[in-house]
Amino acid sequence: MLIKPKKSLGQNFLIDKNIIEKIVSISKISNKDVLEIGPGTGNLTEYILREKPSKIILIEKDKILYDQLQLKFQNNIEIRNEDILKVNEKNISKKKLIVFGNLPYNISTKIVCNWVLKLEKNFWFSELILMFQKEVADRVISKINDTNYGRLSIFLNWKMNIRKVFDISPNCFYPKPKVHSTLVHFFPKKDYFKIKESKNLEKITRIFFNQKRKKIKNPLKQLFVNYKDISENLKLDLNLRPQNLSLETYCKIVREYEKLRS
Ligand code: SAH
Repeated sequence: MLIKPKKSLGQNFLIDKNIIEKIVSISKISNKDVLEIGPGTGNLTEYILREKPSKIILIEKDKILYDQLQLKFQNNIEIRNEDILKVNEKNISKKKLIVFGNLPYNISTKIVCNWVLKLEKNFWFSELILMFQKEVADRVISKINDTNYGRLSIFLNWKMNIRKVFDISPNCFYPKPKVHSTLVHFFPKKDYFKIKESKNLEKITRIFFNQKRKKIKNPLKQLFVNYKDISENLKLDLNLRPQNLSLETYCKIVREYEKLRS
């Protein structure tokens, strides 16, 4: 490879062709619009193109890679030299997008949380196929009562159906990352629990999970003077811990909190 991978941009390129084929085959790309974030040297892009999307947009932060991608691909491709964290996702395309991203892991988590928490009725994507560090993916897909269950899973499962696709070994990348990776597939839910503002869900879950090992009586007391009535209405057992409350229950607590402020 002629390019020296930049650690600062989390550049670990997929080089295992079998894995790339498997990634591309999990979605029906033909005649759909696709967005790929962090395409790097275009390894995944090549395989996406074989499936004949109607359009593909690439967003790559690294100028050197961007220039290379311009040379490598021509027709039917829109390439943008931008930082995905600074892009207004709603202006990327008029059509719903299938999004692929093998990005630096910290960025995958940040953007997916941003996007999902901000999402209103009209989702701008139809699915997201994103790579995470395995441990982070375990948190994303964890369910109530799991040790990994926490804010990340609550935020993302709130509006998304989430499926683990498969784990990917460090050997499939160049340079080899120190960690294992997991591919995760997200689909917007048709219906989700409505609250007024997502930042209240962030706030409430922060208060609960800051005291992860304590009983939920503590955070409830901190939030509501009438915490006893509220727990009765919501049928909450005060001896439970934050990990034992479902996503729906957190949303109901948020609603109570929002009632107080309105
Ligand atoms: N998807 C490619 C490259 C993976 S490496 C493959 O699988 O082979 C991660 C890529 O994300 C690199 O090309 C890096 O330059 C790019 N990147 C890192 N931060 C980014 C950001 N904030 N916005 C857009 N691209 C980014």
